[in-house]
Order: sequence, then structure tokens, then C-alpha cells
Amino acid sequence: MASSMILLTDDLLLDYARCHRRAYLHREGDRHHRAPEKDFVLKLRREHQQQIQRVLAGQTVVTPQYAPQDWPAGAAATETLMAAGVEQIHRGILRWTAPLEAFPQWTGLELVGRPTLLVKQPGVSRFGDWCYQPVNIKLGKRPKSEYKLVAMFQGLILTQVQATPPPDPQLILREGSSHRVDSGYWLGKMVAAVTDCVAALRGPEPPEVFISRQRCSLCPWYDHCHGVAVAIQHLSLVPGVTPGRYASLQGAGVTSLAQLAVLQPEQVEPEIEPAIAHHLQRQAQAIFENRPLPLGRMHPSRPSLAPIELYFDLEAEPDQDVDFLFGVFCVNHAKQTETFHGFFAEHPRDEPLIWQQFLALLHRYPTAPIFHFSPYEVETVKRLSQRYRMSQYSMRSLLPRFIDVHAWLMQVAVLPVENYSLKSVAKWLGFAWRDQGLSGDQTVCLYNQWLDTADQEAMAMIRRYNEDDCRATHLLRMWLHQWSQGEPGNFSKYP
Ligand code: SF4
Repeated sequence: MASSMILLTDDLLLDYARCHRRAYLHREGDRHHRAPEKDFVLKLRREHQQQIQRVLAGQTVVTPQYAPQDWPAGAAATETLMAAGVEQIHRGILRWTAPLEAFPQWTGLELVGRPTLLVKQPGVSRFGDWCYQPVNIKLGKRPKSEYKLVAMFQGLILTQVQATPPPDPQLILREGSSHRVDSGYWLGKMVAAVTDCVAALRGPEPPEVFISRQRCSLCPWYDHCHGVAVAIQHLSLVPGVTPGRYASLQGAGVTSLAQLAVLQPEQVEPEIEPAIAHHLQRQAQAIFENRPLPLGRMHPSRPSLAPIELYFDLEAEPDQDVDFLFGVFCVNHAKQTETFHGFFAEHPRDEPLIWQQFLALLHRYPTAPIFHFSPYEVETVKRLSQRYRMSQYSMRSLLPRFIDVHAWLMQVAVLPVENYSLKSVAKWLGFAWRDQGLSGDQTVCLYNQWLDTADQEAMAMIRRYNEDDCRATHLLRMWLHQWSQGEPGNFSKYP
């Protein structure tokens, strides 16, 4: 059971806004179940610090001195600077421990906020003829709701500290845009979020697990939570079960995989559309019976193997707006040969060079279909064709050659998998990446490592990862070929 005294920091509230369970585990979870932060998370943190330095360059800011995590000392040092009327305070600490009359349910809380800046503004406060406004510099491109909740939370503590409400908090976002948080609108939402958060943190058990690929993939508790979800066959492991649909299923008494596998759409109408309910049922059935199931019509336009086929995957570093590796796995069915071509940009300025090398390879096999997984590859080809002024005529002849294997799969089969990422699907087919545990996010970190240190092993790992993605796409394509002909076969080709 969580203790009744709670230190509620703005970081913990941010975690709660993203995942209720994560906030609880951060406070109460077994540290042995927590994995080290992923390289990609560390990279984002570094970028955030660089962004703050860029925004503050040339400005005068004063930073209070205090030992790490010593909130009382940090708050005292910050209030000294506020009383002195310092124009901008960087990394100040806002702290409040006294009861708040308006929120008796918060009794026993220590509230701590750490805005990037406290900026002096006109007004009257207990410090004099001035007050302070919280300003947060955020790495995100959009003014996300969790940023606003946190800014309001800091504003509430600041109201107590300076004995007057601050002006609306401000957010400075990734591309330098500035956003004002509407206190009138967000105050009630923040109070509700804090109240719910405190109740959850004081609860005897962590909030229910819910695995969401997007939200959980970078979380240090993922392995632990995933293990819990697998052990109880949680419905969030069924692709297509979103939090909203999960609530609807629960409301209809569908709480287990076995029940979902025999779902009748009318059980969950009108909350879930019949077509979606039917799909969820098929998906659960595939997992429950551990076998692929047909879906819709077999794909009529992809019947046979071409003499030569190309499998394409690319790696990109979005922050530098560069596509740094074009990988093409060339399979010659007639000659029974397989060759991988990896066009690697040793520096971001080499992107036009590898783009031309990539196009030259495609032109060498002018009739070969180009298989890829997900729309991203074709979108990138279209974007680069504009960036490097490829003719409309060339594009018109090139684009029809691309075949999205993921889209093909989604039209014809449901698989006993937790999600339809290439990793998950190819693993089900028996494929294993040579560098196990490496992810696309990490290749971005490896590329930055390569740029910083020319580490040959980093480049080799990126190449291997990309080649394995191409090979996995090939394996899936071959499975789909047989599946479309009613012969799923055994594809444990890459043990
Ligand atoms: S893995 Fe997912 S469910 Fe678990 S704490 Fe992290 S975000 Fe929440």
C-alpha cells in the first residue's frame, strides 16, 4: 500500500497524464523490474537540454544553487531570487506543503514544480510590485494537453508561493513557437487530474495494465508490464483493442480472450461498429487458436513471383531531416541469388548521392516490383523526388512498382500476433534479427554515434539491421504468396 505522505512533482504528474500505471510504478514499483532508460530516451533528453540552451542563448538568467533533489533548499533559494526581483530565474523550485483550503483531498501532499523559467511580470505579489509567470521550454512540436496540465500545476504552486495568481503560463515549443495556456480552461482539468493522481498513488495496487505500442515502447517498465499482460491474457494484447473499445467490451461483459474470440457484434453495438467488432473477434480467435485466419478476399493482383524482386527499407534521422540508408535486397528467383545493397550516407550532405545510387539500382531492374513494409518508404520516395527534382515522367513509371506488404497482409489475413509491426509479424514467421533487441529508434542513436565518432561497428549494426528488415519483408512476402494460394507453408527459413 502506498504511504499517505506523497511527494507530487510535476514530472510525476506528467507521467500520470501519460499513463496512470507508470506514475504508480515510478513511486511504488520494484526497482528490479525497471529497465535502464533506452538510448533513444537519453538522446531526446540531450536534445531537450540543447534546445533550452539555444532558447536561452544571449539572455540573462539566474539559477538558484541547491543540491540535487533538495527541494526545500531549492525552494528557499528560488524565493530569495524572487524577493530580489530577478528578471528570469532558470531551474527554480516551486514548493508547497501547507494544506490548500480549496482542495482538502490533497492534504498530506508535498507539491513541487520545476518550470524551465520564472519570468518577472508586472503585478503585485508578496514580493513587491511584481510577480512571476511560469514558462516551460518543451521538445514537442505541439502544445500537448499534458504540458498544459503541468504548467497549470506549477501555476497553482506559484499562486501559493507569491500569494497571487500568475499570468497564464507559457510554453515554448520545438520550433520556437510560443503558446499561452488558458488558465480559465485548464485549471479545472488540472485539479481533476491531480485529485485522480493522488487517489491512484494512494491505492493498494497499481492501476490496471494496458499495453499500447505507441505509449509503452519507450517505457522502462515495459518488460514488467508486458509480462503481467501476457500472464493474464489482457485484452490490450489483441491488436485493435484501444482503451475506448476495451471499456466498451468490459461494459458488455467481455473480459477474456476466450469471450472476445466468440464475440457477436450485436453484443457491443452501438459502442463498437459491427465491422470493427467482427474484426476484433477474428483477431482474438486467431490468437486464441494460435493460427492465421483468412480475412476478406485473397489479393487478386499479387498472384505470382516475378523473376527479380526488390525489397526496400530505409533508415532516417528526422531531427536532421536526412534519410541516411537506402537498403535494397535483390532476389533473383531465376538465378536463385540474393544480394543486399546498402547505400549509406556517411554524412547528411551525402543524401543526394545515395538517392542517385538508389535510383540507379532501381533502373537496373526496370520491371522488378519493389516490396516494402508500411507507406513510409513510398512517402519518402515522393518527398525526395521533389527535393531532388526528379521528373514527373520518371516518377509515374516508378511509383506503380512499389507494393506495400503490410497493406497486403492487412487485407487478407489475421495473425496470432500482438501487433502488426514488421518485428512482430516476422518473428511469428520464425525470423530473428541478428542484433536482437535493436530497434529503429536505436539506429538513429547509432547514426548519431557514427557522425560523432566514425565508429565502424555502429555503421555495421545499422547496415545489418536494415538488411534484416529487408529480409524479413521478403519472408513475409513469400508467406503471403503461399497464403494467397492456400498454402501457408513453414517459413522458419532464418533460424
Ligand atoms: S509499460 Fe505501458 S502500461 Fe506499463 S507503465 Fe509503461 S506506459 Fe504504463
